[in-house]
Order: sequence, then C-alpha cells, then structure tokens
Amino acid sequence: MKKFAIFGNPVEHSKSPNMHNNTFKKLGFDGEYFKIHLEDGSKLKDTFLSQGLSGANITVPHKEEALKASDYLDEFAKKVGAVNTLVLKNGKLYGYNTDAPGFLKSIKKFIDIESILILGAGGTVQSTSSILKDEGYEVFILNRSAPRLEKFIEQGFECFTFDNFTPKNFDLIVNMTSAGLKDENLPAPKEILDTVLPTAKAAIDIIYGKDTPFLKLAKSYNLPTADGSEMLIQQGVLAFDYFTEHQFDLNIVEEFMREGLFKS
Ligand code: NDP
Repeated sequence: MKKFAIFGNPVEHSKSPNMHNNTFKKLGFDGEYFKIHLEDGSKLKDTFLSQGLSGANITVPHKEEALKASDYLDEFAKKVGAVNTLVLKNGKLYGYNTDAPGFLKSIKKFIDIESILILGAGGTVQSTSSILKDEGYEVFILNRSAPRLEKFIEQGFECFTFDNFTPKNFDLIVNMTSAGLKDENLPAPKEILDTVLPTAKAAIDIIYGKDTPFLKLAKSYNLPTADGSEMLIQQGVLAFDYFTEHQFDLNIVEEFMREGLFKS
C-alpha cells in the first residue's frame, strides 16, 4: 500500500484525507492518506522519509520548507517559490504547486471577470497572482501591512495597504488572508469593503467550510459568492494526478474528490 499525508500546523481541520481516501477507494488504488501535525518545518523531509510516504500535501505554515525540501522543482513551483505537493520518485523529492492552477479552475464559474482585487499578500497570493496575471487578468493586491507587498510591487502588481487604497471597479474580490479562519475578523476595514463590494460581480473567500464575515458581507450585497471548497477540490485533483502518475481520468477523480469532501 502506498502512503500519503498532509503536513500542517494546525492540520486537524483538513479535509484532504477524506477526499483522497474516498478517491483511492472508489478507483481501487491501494493507497492511504493521513494527517501529520508538524511543529518544526525543518523536520519535513526527514518525517516524510521516515514515514515511508510516496507523496504529500503541505499546508500552512510549511510551504516554504517544502520548497527547500524538494530535490527537483517543477518550473511553476520554482517561479512562484511555493510548494504544496511533494512526490517521491527514485529516492528524490519532486515539488509542485497545485494551489494556483486549482484556484484558477475554481473561478471559471464566474463569467465576465477581467479585474481581480486580492485581499492578502501571503504564500497563496504569491502563486495565484502569478497564474492569474499570466492568464491575462488584471490583478490588484490589498494587504494589511506593507512589507509583504514589496515583492509584488517588484513583479509589477498594483498594490495597496489600507492607508493608500484607491477604489476602482473590480470584477472579483477574493479573500486570501487568514482573517475569518479562526476568528470573526474581516480581511480589510469595513469602509473599504463597502466601497468595492457593491460594484463587484462576485466574491470568493478561499477559507472553506465556513460562512466567514467576508462572505456574509458580500452576500448582503447580493453578490454571487463561493468559499474555498472548489479550490480545495481542484488542487486536490491535480495533486492526486501527480501521486498516481497520471493514470486516471481527472473528471472521475474530481467527482470522487467532491464526494469525499461533502459526505464527510
Ligand atoms: P499566509 O500566512 O502566507 O498569509 C496570511 C495573509 O493574511 C497575510 O497577507 C496577512 O497580512 C493576512 N492577514 C492575517 N490576518 C489578518 C487579519 N486579521 N486582517 C487582515 N489581514 C490578515 O497564509 P496563506 O497564504 O498560506 O493562507 C491564507 C488563507 O488561505 C488561509 O486562511 C488558508 O487556510 C487559505 N487557503 C485555502 C486553500 C484552499 O484550498 N481553499 C489553499 C491555501 C490556503 P500581513 O502581511 O499584514 O500579516
């Protein structure tokens, strides 16, 4: 049996085992997927190897350690500097990023989206902003504090903090901060959100399984909304494809991943 895991801290809330185990079972693949709570990210590689894993997903706060742990990096993971999927091949660790293509796929259900305001400037924004820009979206970034914005400014993104924010008509507003994950905070001052939400076409919070304050506010403006479930499913499908060496039809994998997430 091949073993897979998700590393994180915290990791208890993760639904990835439900999705992957359901899909292994339904496809008759001899695999199991479990959670590993990892305090010290520098132990990622040793733990991966000592547990006899064939692959893993990596969540907060170990994505940068996953990058360092990789012997080989996929071109996109190297470009964005974030790894959320590790696969062991011939004794070497290969690092991939499936968050960004997963997010890209998840926004396709909203039509006529050209401009996107991202709230936050953390690891997930690093990978998703890059793929969105490459796909031709106009991307703006608003973050609570300035330091994390520097690298985005260098990459040519128009960036704001709460103090120098200039409102425009943004088609899609996305919460990619952790505000609302374990608290009831909005990701930006309400006055700013009250300016941009009424003219938006849709809003997404990538936190999943929870009606966050941001989603509630967006719904109060009658906007179409989505939580992070779709991104979670899509990044999982792509990770599963790497884990199982591209042997299954991804439409079928998606169906079983979705079933695994929602029946849990
Ligand atoms: P990081 O820790 O890298 O970044 C956190 C960001 O949130 C920073 O920009 C930080 O701002 C901002 N922030 C934190 N608290 C607040 C607050 N109270 N108010 C305003 N801004 C705040 O996180 P990640 O990029 O790894 O993850 C972000 C979120 O995305 C998490 O909730 C995570 O669960 C979710 N996620 C969901 C996925 C899915 O599949 N659905 C996949 C990946 C992530 P500052 O710079 O000022 O500190």
